[in-house]
Amino acid sequence: MTTTQETHAFQAEAKELLNLVIHSLYSNKEIFLRELISNASDACDKLRFEALTEPGLLAGDEELAIELEADPDAKTLTVIDNGIGMSLEEVRTNLGTIARSGTKAFASQLAEAKADPESLPRLIGQFGVGFYSVFMVADRVVVETRRAGSDEGVRWESEGAGEYTIEECALAHRGTRITLHLKPAEEGDETYQDFTQEYVLKKVVKDWSDFVEYPVRMQVERYEGEGDERKKEVKTETLNSMRPLWTRPKSDISEEEYTEFYRHISHDWNDPLSHVHFKAEGVHSYTALCFLPKQRGHELFDPSHLESKVALYVQRVHITSECAELLPSWLRFVHGVVDSDDLPLNVSRETLQHNRQLAQIQKRLVKKLLDEMGRQLKQDREQYVAFWGEFGQVLKEGVWHEDGYRDEVAELCLFPSSVTLAEGADEQQHGFTTLAEYVGRMPEGQDKIWFLSGNEQGSLQSSPHLERAKGQEVLFFSEIDEIALSKLGEFQGHELVALDKGEVELDDEAKQDLEAAGERLGALTEAVAAKLDGKVESVRLSARLTDSPACLVPGENSLPPQLEAMLRAQGQPVPESKQVLELNPGHPLVQKLDDSKDSEDFGETCELLFGQALLAEGSPLPDPARFAKLVAKRLLG
Ligand code: ADP
Repeated sequence: MTTTQETHAFQAEAKELLNLVIHSLYSNKEIFLRELISNASDACDKLRFEALTEPGLLAGDEELAIELEADPDAKTLTVIDNGIGMSLEEVRTNLGTIARSGTKAFASQLAEAKADPESLPRLIGQFGVGFYSVFMVADRVVVETRRAGSDEGVRWESEGAGEYTIEECALAHRGTRITLHLKPAEEGDETYQDFTQEYVLKKVVKDWSDFVEYPVRMQVERYEGEGDERKKEVKTETLNSMRPLWTRPKSDISEEEYTEFYRHISHDWNDPLSHVHFKAEGVHSYTALCFLPKQRGHELFDPSHLESKVALYVQRVHITSECAELLPSWLRFVHGVVDSDDLPLNVSRETLQHNRQLAQIQKRLVKKLLDEMGRQLKQDREQYVAFWGEFGQVLKEGVWHEDGYRDEVAELCLFPSSVTLAEGADEQQHGFTTLAEYVGRMPEGQDKIWFLSGNEQGSLQSSPHLERAKGQEVLFFSEIDEIALSKLGEFQGHELVALDKGEVELDDEAKQDLEAAGERLGALTEAVAAKLDGKVESVRLSARLTDSPACLVPGENSLPPQLEAMLRAQGQPVPESKQVLELNPGHPLVQKLDDSKDSEDFGETCELLFGQALLAEGSPLPDPARFAKLVAKRLLG
């Protein structure tokens, strides 16, 4: 065996993370142990899973366990597991880079977080510090590991200062052994804990890792007997209760235990919003425990991470941590576990697809989660509004999907509206309305649900299009609302209608008025169209305006503005489309325009009118400098 030692530098992002961990995290240092135990437990899971098809891997060492060895004199703490271990190649890729998929996302958020140190704990909580957290408490770390099925061991060592070494070595046992050379207490550090002390380790394991499914053991010294008989004995103690939380009756589980479990599976440092825990018995029997988080993680919109974050167990054996079949992607913010009693233990990840049993579990789980969100909405509006702010955009995808939950998800959607944002609005609503509340407020005679889309709430609130609603409530759509909601079409029998789309339906009188105006102003619309040629699709008279002189409405081939913005952001071609300029025939400015259509500065007036219509809908001007000049000229008279 070669014993050459290689020295490597940490990947740039890993180095940054290390620095942060060492210098910025002062509280909760003890979570390093949770991270190590959780890695050890994952390693045991992996081995148990691989051994289902290759029993030889267990090789006479069947009982998987995690051990802590503390040496108060040498000031070392060692965490040992007999799980899957790592090959040389795995050590190289795992301990030197940021393992979780977030490397790129992390690097970009790190830059932001540096400017705002208070957000660092949140950032790190979101990404999970993982293995690197050992450097919060240790100034030298040695990892010795041997992969199951291999004879060769690997030794990795680092002082966390930018470099690490790797060498091959002989190891007697399969699995991983991580030795931390603990830092001494710094002067004035009141939070210092001695992680070689039994009572400290016991408490940390109890607090953070109690339900880990493998025993976490430690040798403890006890004095047995009385008087002269009294002598020191060394005993092995198991520090965790090991009972998977979800298998216990609900009435036995405290909120703290649920929270601890949530943090364990989600790597989130925050409390969850709430949980759903139930046991299904009957044709299929399984237990599910799922959590609604309070804050979103960085992966929510990562295109490579749009699948369910619910883990699948079969009879307490961990099969996979992210089982895509258990929840639709629009519930990807939910964390949890499902433990089935009847799936075959050796079920492969491939056979999980199209599994009818999983489809049925999914159905029940989605229903329970939607009910829970409905309950939250009713019970604590303010909290639900905050939840919606974090996850609404993802949940809304459920209205768009064809998987049968459209109406239920629509019930859970919140929108700001001309009523909820108005001065003196009901504070209980916290600025948002549900569709059902909107319908409940509809006055007699209103049969449509009006909405207006745009990216800026401020300009929606003062949009000239609101005039068309004639005082009726208008929902303000943003982001992907219009695309998602376009599939809904109607709610409780009321059609959802975009205020700025299409022609306005008119009664007979209004029709006659418009026709008369058309005869009177036909020449004007043609003249304006000629001056704005290339800028607008056409010019016509409007029946939707009362106070504003003009507005822009989407042309025949226009896409919703959000879709356009999304396509542009993705670098996709956006079909060329122009808007239609509508003029208000009753407005004095339009009358004045008609009178001046033969004058010299008519072209400039048309430009000004077009520019102010753009400003009114919150769109940028194509040439702001020229617009400013024209305004200045008019002001001078
Ligand atoms: P994460 O656990 O979030 O992936 P870590 O930084 O904690 O990130 O660990 C990096 C990787 O190193 C893990 O994904 C795993 O592949 C490997 N690893 C860490 N600890 C162990 C262990 N005790 N046994 C086997 N592999 C391990």
